[in-house]
Amino acid sequence: MKDCHIHLMPLIGPAEAPGVFMKRAADAGIDGGTIMSLPPRSFRPDPERSQHWKDRLEGILEYTSSTPGFNPFFWIDPTESDIYEQISCAARSGIAGFKCICNHFYPKSCLKQFSAVAETGLPIHFHSGILFDHYPSSEFVRPLAFEPLLEIKDIKFALAHVGNPWVDEYVLLYAKFQAAMRNVPGERKLRMFIDLTPGVTRLRRKEMFRMLLLSGYADCSNDIIWGTDCRINKYDTEKSSIYLEFDRKIIEEIRQECLEKQRFPAPAEDLWEKITESNYKAFCSR
Ligand SMILES: [Zn+2]
Repeated sequence: MKDCHIHLMPLIGPAEAPGVFMKRAADAGIDGGTIMSLPPRSFRPDPERSQHWKDRLEGILEYTSSTPGFNPFFWIDPTESDIYEQISCAARSGIAGFKCICNHFYPKSCLKQFSAVAETGLPIHFHSGILFDHYPSSEFVRPLAFEPLLEIKDIKFALAHVGNPWVDEYVLLYAKFQAAMRNVPGERKLRMFIDLTPGVTRLRRKEMFRMLLLSGYADCSNDIIWGTDCRINKYDTEKSSIYLEFDRKIIEEIRQECLEKQRFPAPAEDLWEKITESNYKAFCSR
């Protein structure tokens, strides 16, 4: 199974050796996914490591060269003055995608930069939902703040955390992107992926899945991917296993309910396989 959301974070020690990380992930059943580079300084300063973009880029490429199955994503701050150089250099150097947390700027203020990302053909992974950082940042990361991405012709992006706590807004945003594609059929490759990474805790997860799968606004079964927010500083096998089991069971429960009561069309039998395997491959494919 694939974990689409793994970090290297400041202030919690060094990354574990690639082999140790791979073993911890494998113990949860995870054999691939995304590892994101160290964040830029504007997200969180790291007293122990250089956060110059070239060092962060080199660092994640080197680490993932020893973790087959795990793809390197490069974390950008699009407000930096040399961002276009960063984007083209990262794309050339073999990165699999980009990561961005809009913690001190509106997504709509950086559409040119995100267009440059889209032109590389690589996906970009955004954070959406209340962010436990040190800025007043919530207005920048609400799902609706990402609606202006509609202006970018071919952007392929994931929004993480199902917009926690704005799940309804998030689902409607997804449906809006679907409608935009339907209303003007053409050559666009615009695509939004739904990253289930918590955010939404076990208390509200069933409600979240019901909204995603049964709302009737749009069929998202090919666009949901699964992740943990675990770190290569020390991959949390227990957290990963608990959520894998919890989510798989909820989806099965919803499916059974639908089959018995026939009030809603039942989610497809292979939905779990899609969420944990094939949808992630579609997210990363060029
Ligand atoms: Zn994260």
